[in-house]
Amino acid sequence: MPRTLFVTYALPYANGPLHLGHMTGFVQTDMWVRFQRLRGNTVHFVGADDAHGSGIMLKAEAQGITPEALIEQVSVDHQADCKDFLIDFDIYHSTHSPENAELSGQIYQALDAKGLIARRDVEQAFDAEKGMFLPDRFVKGTCPSCKTPDQYGDSCEACGTTYRPTDLIDPVSVVSGSAPVQKNSEHLFFALPQLADYLQGYIGSEAIQASVKPKLAEWFADGLRDWDISRDAPYFGFEIPGAPGKYFYVWVDAPVGYMASLKALAAQDDAVDFDAIWRPDSDAEVHHFIGKDIIYFHALFWPAMLHAAGFRAPTGVHAHGMLNINGAKMSKSRGTFIMARTWLDHLPAEPLRYYFASRLGGSIEDMELNLADFAQVINADLVGKYVNIASRSAGFITKRFDGALGERVDTELLDTVSGAANEIAEAYEQRNTAKAVRLTMAAADAVNAYIAEQQPWVIAKQDGSDDDLQRVCTTALTAFRDLTVYLKPILPATAAKAEAFLNGGPLSWADIGKPLAGRTIAKFKPLMSRIEPDTVHAMLDAGKADTTPKQAATKETPVDDNTIQIDDFSKIDLRVARIADAQHVEGADKLLQLTLDVGDLGSKNVFAGIKSAYAPEDLVGKHVVMVANLAPRKMRFGLSEGMVLAAGPGGSDLFVVSPDDGAKPGMKVK
Ligand SMILES: [Zn+2]
Repeated sequence: MPRTLFVTYALPYANGPLHLGHMTGFVQTDMWVRFQRLRGNTVHFVGADDAHGSGIMLKAEAQGITPEALIEQVSVDHQADCKDFLIDFDIYHSTHSPENAELSGQIYQALDAKGLIARRDVEQAFDAEKGMFLPDRFVKGTCPSCKTPDQYGDSCEACGTTYRPTDLIDPVSVVSGSAPVQKNSEHLFFALPQLADYLQGYIGSEAIQASVKPKLAEWFADGLRDWDISRDAPYFGFEIPGAPGKYFYVWVDAPVGYMASLKALAAQDDAVDFDAIWRPDSDAEVHHFIGKDIIYFHALFWPAMLHAAGFRAPTGVHAHGMLNINGAKMSKSRGTFIMARTWLDHLPAEPLRYYFASRLGGSIEDMELNLADFAQVINADLVGKYVNIASRSAGFITKRFDGALGERVDTELLDTVSGAANEIAEAYEQRNTAKAVRLTMAAADAVNAYIAEQQPWVIAKQDGSDDDLQRVCTTALTAFRDLTVYLKPILPATAAKAEAFLNGGPLSWADIGKPLAGRTIAKFKPLMSRIEPDTVHAMLDAGKADTTPKQAATKETPVDDNTIQIDDFSKIDLRVARIADAQHVEGADKLLQLTLDVGDLGSKNVFAGIKSAYAPEDLVGKHVVMVANLAPRKMRFGLSEGMVLAAGPGGSDLFVVSPDDGAKPGMKVK
């Protein structure tokens, strides 16, 4: 039975351009949507900007324009970036919309009618010069704990302490530069603890992915608290019905914006039935894809609001990890804070979509974009394996058979390729595109091995060999068709070119394994070009140029000795690893080659300079500590993907660091 799915990705904030971190999530969601459509399911996929809050109000003011003008311009840019990254939305809307004002008010009034809205005074930092209450992030001062200057009002970036803005030493309003005063105001609260029983069931359900459950259980154990949902004027947002001068906190109407965008779509498209999707007994599915930093809002506040207001809860809340580039968080000073547009100015979107797909496993593990390895992956997999199959076979069919494919094929190979369909579909369904890519490339390897063995270019030179030549090339192109279906959610533009070449209309999942006998193919045109490392470098240089002025404006941390800050240390991803295998390296007198089992991170290959102190057979099975996010280093013997910690001056005085018994591969060392 075809399913009906409503799918969203977290709404980007409308105060600036999209960067590659946003694109990780958009691309992940889009691939899932395209996969579902390919399977014959009906998907409504909406995007929107999150357009409210103090941040947007003040940014617009700084630019001397209205908030409406700011969010309008940002929306144009966001939509252009998404379109060029091939994100296939049915509509791109805004939380600053009439549909959202109506739905937010309706949900609020339903909660109020159930006695779920509380009112009480809150003391808050107030900028008397500007006449506005200050969000925590708009107050800066010296950390009360470690005395680091220039810290935000919610937590210290140096020591990690959390506090209230009033606890800062010498606090200053970021808006006017004046010292904030304390002032009382009545706030409205959503009584979240009253929904604890409902939420307990919800977070235990299949709607929540396994890797997120421990964190939610922790929050539950800490105790749910009433949620402050109002902000005082001046604020850019929706005024709360029956509460003049009070506005919905931006995080109230942001998720309602998902519903509002669907409502706007339903107004344009009769096939979209808003009520049928949102009523409590709906058969339709609602899926929210989000970054792991906003799980609290989507797995607790949002289902609680929906349930209490008489709507159904999401079928799935799917969180992904953060994007790291070249082994570290995206960073302006390293030039790796890359805007979506900077990428598009230099490189096509599809190779990055493929790279993301090959790294996304459906969990909340952070994801690594290694730009040194990017071109190699694309050239090897897509150009070298996938496209190569068509380019090696098509010419013979065109020249010798007028483009006609034959009746005879080698079914053993074709069964291998089409036989992977169910496992690949299951991997897509579970958002494990890394596995889908792995299985697809294994099938591509089998096809390339078949071509290498059959040698059509040799057959072509033999007399009376037409039947054989047509059989081999038809087999290869039939397999190519199946591989195209497997890759279509990831590479929609390339798939469209392949469809034109195969001359049989748009492909769907149901086409896998069907014979192509009798089909006449079009002339083959190159489907994709190789990625040159120089282009990647040029993109990175442009990214650095983009961010230089901003970098100069950020605060400098004084460095006068070799002390590091806690966040410098936390950049190092230390993991427990089990040495699965250790080998001598031919031609290297100091190195051993270690194969490390790092649990969830998989297997890593490391060359370690410990040969003078250890024999390989003494190491196998041992647990060690490794640096897992060290940029991979190309050595004469191969790629080294990390470092194993050891103590001592060297020679025979080298001691590998081991964790206590009980530590498991993949555990973080903190
Ligand atoms: Zn501190």
